[in-house]
Amino acid sequence: MIKRFIRRVLGLSDQVDRVPRERHGLARDALTPAAAKVCTVLREAGFSAYVVGGAVRDLLLGIAPKDFDVATDARPEQVKPLFRRALIIGRRFRLVHVMMGAETVEVSTFRAADPDTAEKDEHGRVLRDNVFGTQAEDARRRDFTVNALYFDPASEEVVDFHGGLADLKKRVLRVIGDPETRYREDPVRMLRGVRLGAKLGLTLEAATREPIRRLAPLMERVPPARLFDEMLKLLLSGHASACLRQLRDVGLHKGLLPLLDVILEQPLGERFVTLALAQTDERVLAERPVSPAFLFAALLWHEVLAASKAREARGERSIMALENAMDEVLDTQCAKLAITRRLTATMREIWSMQPRFELRSGQRPYRMVESPRYRMAYDFLAVRAASGEVPAELEAWWRAFHSADAETRKAMLLPDTGPRKRRRRRRKKQPAAPPTPASA
Ligand code: ATP
Ligand code: MG
Repeated sequence: MIKRFIRRVLGLSDQVDRVPRERHGLARDALTPAAAKVCTVLREAGFSAYVVGGAVRDLLLGIAPKDFDVATDARPEQVKPLFRRALIIGRRFRLVHVMMGAETVEVSTFRAADPDTAEKDEHGRVLRDNVFGTQAEDARRRDFTVNALYFDPASEEVVDFHGGLADLKKRVLRVIGDPETRYREDPVRMLRGVRLGAKLGLTLEAATREPIRRLAPLMERVPPARLFDEMLKLLLSGHASACLRQLRDVGLHKGLLPLLDVILEQPLGERFVTLALAQTDERVLAERPVSPAFLFAALLWHEVLAASKAREARGERSIMALENAMDEVLDTQCAKLAITRRLTATMREIWSMQPRFELRSGQRPYRMVESPRYRMAYDFLAVRAASGEVPAELEAWWRAFHSADAETRKAMLLPDTGPRKRRRRRRKKQPAAPPTPASA
């Protein structure tokens, strides 16, 4: 018993529990029709087929899964011909996307990650691990015990190699095998642990949690595009605030966004980031759209501000200082985190519109509220106001101006003051159009 337990904890055990429905409660009708159908078709063709990973875990916790993955002993080229609409995808490791109606089910062949033959870098990070394997090997290469549960729709049994069912019941997240080795193989697992813990309300088991602080610098070696994907998943999980808290608790925030730790140590910066994330979580949980650009702009705002102030102190004019600060911050961050171009373009717009909220005279406010990015920039301003960075009055003014009628707007405008007058004079040749209420 003890021996079996130890082997299991070490991930060495191929000892398997086939747990009947009475003991786990999951029924086949909890699956989507497509997931159920894919398993049936594979089975009838003589292969084994299980729903696996996040979907089983979520269903057992009573959460609606995002998507369904199926694991099978059939090879991709054996899977594809069984379905009318199926595609073999992936270069590194081939798997099959089966499309049924609006659903796509990902079918992957059991694979092994042989720690002895897998190609690794000098820190133990696995670079390639693309060999087919047995179901037991497939279970062992997965990250957490609760992610290595296989549900067989035919028998309604859960196949459990690593005590995932017991961990789910205890609500703990436990790495399969030796945590340090598994984190070295793939440092992203540390980030996944934090995200899944926050999303599912699971506690990171002591040994799973312990090495993270020490190994956090390994995040540096993760390819930027992968880090970006994972960060996005985390930020859009609906539990971004909890994730960030947890990232700080385990000491992982330093490895993610350079200087995020510095920002979080400034009271204003922390308040700002916390508010932006809380707002995002609310929106995600209410199934309202959120903009990744807005989020990244929020995460990096105080860094842009700091860089911009430093430049102004060195004598740069404020507009140039802000422009240069944006370049500087994005250059540093993008080297680490492959924030896409489309995103950085929007982030720049949000940032560079902020100083324009200060200008509340003449034609500027009219042009401002007409700008296609006004809404996003205003939401950003609202977070700045809520965090105490700018006066609440400024945000209230814009909120009122935006919905006011032409008469009220005119009355709201502030008198033109010194430096702005100079700029107006330069523009005198082309008189600005009078405010048109219809387009306001
Ligand atoms: P989510 O709810 O975010 O989809 P998930 O656990 O399903 O969570 P996926 O990225 O969809 O996450 O991965 C599916 C499964 O693949 C996981 O449940 C896990 O078994 C395995 N897996 C994913 N990433 C890793 C990894 N880095 N190392 C080991 N196994 C992994
Ligand atoms: Mg998933």
